[in-house]
Amino acid sequence: MNIVQNIENIKKQLSDNNINLKIIAVSKTFELFQIQPLIDHGHLIFGENKVQETKFKWAKLLERNNDLEIHLIGGLQTNKAKDAVQLFKFIHSVDRKKLVDALKKAEERLNFKRKYFLQVNTGQELQKFGVAPEEVENLFKYAKSKLNIIGLMCIPPKNEDSKVHFKILSNLAKKLKLSELSMGMSHDFVEAGLSGATYVRIGSKIFGERS
Ligand SMILES: *Cc1c(COP(=O)(O)O)cnc(C)c1O
Repeated sequence: MNIVQNIENIKKQLSDNNINLKIIAVSKTFELFQIQPLIDHGHLIFGENKVQETKFKWAKLLERNNDLEIHLIGGLQTNKAKDAVQLFKFIHSVDRKKLVDALKKAEERLNFKRKYFLQVNTGQELQKFGVAPEEVENLFKYAKSKLNIIGLMCIPPKNEDSKVHFKILSNLAKKLKLSELSMGMSHDFVEAGLSGATYVRIGSKIFGERS
């Protein structure tokens, strides 16, 4: 598995479609020695879905390399907010007021600011994270005075056409005048780009299947 070649192929596919966006290399479950070639290649944006795993894997490297940008793309518990603010420059999973409060408090304690996406449950799935589409505006009004909310994020339901969900998300973002859209994964990143994504989150297409 040549991960450098894989990301170069993805970049080419995007540029062939005149798409300009940022690629979050989703490195969850992979070990640092497997990720390292991509860092050496100059890639600096990575995604993880667990606070503990991230701390264990990245904390030392983050101390040495200020340019690294780790994004939290998984659900977050309020009791881990402080660790999360410490580790992640971007958090994509803000979905409730309690979490907004916890993140705000963590920022004040640590005395620095991060960037945030509101996660929207566009598929209205019961067991999924994310705020319901009709509740987004309300949550945004609450969150925007406390945190730097830069955009919206979604994970479309597995067996549905992603494009429908990308459209819902981009319409919501337009309404709220938010410029960043975190959407698209290994199987649908081109469609996401064509639908206006500014960040795609790609794991298996770069690192291979997760065991
Ligand atoms: C794991 C994960 C990804 C990457 O998925 P791939 O299909 O491997 O590209 C993207 N977004 C989220 C929220 C994830 O948890």
